[in-house]
Amino acid sequence: MRIQRLWTGEIWIDDAALLVKAGRIEAVGAWREVRKKLDAPLLEWDGWLLPGLVNAHTHLELAGLAGRVPLAAGFAAWGQAVARADFWDEKAVRAAMAAVGLAAYRLVVDVATRAVRPMAHLWEESPGWEYGLLVESLTDRIPRAWVPTLHLRRGWMAPAAHSLYGSAPSVLLGAKAWCQAQGRIFSLHAAERPEELDLAQQRWGAFGGANSVVEALDQLGVLDPHTLLVHGVHLTRSDVERLAARRTLVCLCPRSNAALGIGQAPWGMLRRAGVRLVLGTDSLASVPDLDLWQELAFLQETLAPGLCLEEGLALVTGQALGLGRLCPNAVASLAPLPGWLVERFR
Ligand SMILES: [Zn+2]
Repeated sequence: MRIQRLWTGEIWIDDAALLVKAGRIEAVGAWREVRKKLDAPLLEWDGWLLPGLVNAHTHLELAGLAGRVPLAAGFAAWGQAVARADFWDEKAVRAAMAAVGLAAYRLVVDVATRAVRPMAHLWEESPGWEYGLLVESLTDRIPRAWVPTLHLRRGWMAPAAHSLYGSAPSVLLGAKAWCQAQGRIFSLHAAERPEELDLAQQRWGAFGGANSVVEALDQLGVLDPHTLLVHGVHLTRSDVERLAARRTLVCLCPRSNAALGIGQAPWGMLRRAGVRLVLGTDSLASVPDLDLWQELAFLQETLAPGLCLEEGLALVTGQALGLGRLCPNAVASLAPLPGWLVERFR
């Protein structure tokens, strides 16, 4: 494959070539070098390409709620409306998947709470490289639906907690232990709302005098490099330092946070501390589309005006998850880079 311009995850290559065999990269480099290994280009791409995208947090099962849940009344009212809504709409989920352009995605981490099996079937039928279906518990029980009785070809399932306040500590620990044993990401919403620790204490009891959600999670022993905290809006300086020390992943969803009026994650602090960051769109119940490029553009516009294009590309290709690099043996998942986005970063 001959490509006008390629971002490998480390460098730009003009007039690049990728040699792909059985879905994996055999060689990557300048066309004049790589061409020696083949007779003729099989495919010419007149544009810019980069490693496949990674949406680290969404809830596709809520696609039917697009435009149906009021955002202006605040997070609690929004959350109740989502929980009460007759949400399942297979047509809407299919349409949302089609609109995303999943073929350009290396990985989508999707959360399912109530429509686990239907979502697993839809993901199996979808294009794209890989999906992770996180089965979230909003109770004091680890959901049984995640038990992989389904034969999954392209994806994987794992139990997840909703949050410190939404899931019992036993669920957090049980789900984390399962994920750890299976080498999967353990994910939960954290520091999305300022009152999360109070809510958790009211529901589950005190957390050993913890002063923040992050501290409570650390006391439970679930903060490590394979735990993904989603949102991180209300992180304090000591939370950020703790997350950096534990090498815990944080997924930012800036458009969802703005739509719900809950503030924004402390981007500068997270970046300076070297916290491992990824990006997610969250669901159509709070954002107008699941387009990761729009998420990046919004991040750059509002939180991170100094962001350079390459750092943005590291975020949308999931480099913090060990993905986002085109090198020999990596899977040949590619995404086109939109011209309008490049213009924003000039
Ligand atoms: Zn979420």
